[in-house]
Amino acid sequence: MHAESDPDAIDPLIGKMRAAAAPFRRTLQELHRSYAGLFDGAVATYIPELALADPSWFGISVATADGLVFEIGDSGRPFSIQSISKPFVFGMAIQDHGRDQVLRRVGVEPTGEAFNSIVLDEATNRPFNPMVNAGAIATTDLIEGADAGERFKRLLAMFRRFTGRDIHIDNAVFLSERITGHRNRAIAHLMRNFGMVGDRFEESLELYFQQCSILVTCRDLAIMGATLANGGQNPLTGETALEPQYVKDVLSIMLSCGMYDFAGEWAYRTGLPAKSGVSGGIVAVVPGVAGIGVYSPLLDPKGNSVRGIRVCQDLSRKFGLHAFEARFSGPSFHDECHPPRRGT
Ligand code: GLU
Repeated sequence: MHAESDPDAIDPLIGKMRAAAAPFRRTLQELHRSYAGLFDGAVATYIPELALADPSWFGISVATADGLVFEIGDSGRPFSIQSISKPFVFGMAIQDHGRDQVLRRVGVEPTGEAFNSIVLDEATNRPFNPMVNAGAIATTDLIEGADAGERFKRLLAMFRRFTGRDIHIDNAVFLSERITGHRNRAIAHLMRNFGMVGDRFEESLELYFQQCSILVTCRDLAIMGATLANGGQNPLTGETALEPQYVKDVLSIMLSCGMYDFAGEWAYRTGLPAKSGVSGGIVAVVPGVAGIGVYSPLLDPKGNSVRGIRVCQDLSRKFGLHAFEARFSGPSFHDECHPPRRGT
């Protein structure tokens, strides 16, 4: 069933008016209709739990930097965040330790290699960037806390500030990944050998599996993206999720490394900082303007959601959202989302 927002509903969780009556609602309906019948790609199977996803699941949500939320399809269906957690944890590590210390443990260079490749920079022994598994595990290792429980709580609290709601992990996904995560264990041991992770790296690996199992919806992703678009402040709750001076650290890594080994092509075509995950989610950010969340578990060979890529590309093209767009003369995203009020 495709649950669509009631045009005049007040969201009970956030107390804000949804802007579903705006013309932008039609844009989302059209996009959803265009791609709901596209069944290219395959669901991920290397984490057994992920193989249970239904290929027809498809949700789109867009949240503006001033707090309007649009959604269509399976926008409220929870799925595990997987790699989409990585840029947010990177932001937290930088906030905890500062840039210099984090950059001693992880680089900011795109790899062109698979996300789970067992390769470190030969010159520095660092993982190449925080979006591949090696770099993400090194980043998670930097999360502060007296013990595993406190570190996990801090991590969840950060994600709660971004989503603006209570969130939890999917235990079945966590256990599924933990049991089968031999490759990630190998990566962590290799990094321990080179001093890129500390003594408690096995605890950090558990924390990494937990962070990948956090349940989100594509509506959450849109709000997380809108929070980055809004300088780190959640536009629905007003809470600061990330200090504004670190937002550019996160967005620049997302632009250069966020879409697996499709990242360059993505930046060229779509021009939006984004991150995808193997469960089929994509978060994309239009700085200063909006966050986009798409969920559809059918992946292309590079691991990106097939429908998710199409939706983001179409939105970018239609409204001239590419970061380097010049003199765009097409429809205004802002006007479609913010129609004049009735009676004015
Ligand atoms: N938990 C996954 C792994 O480490 C993340 C994969 C992904 O979404 O790219 O293999």
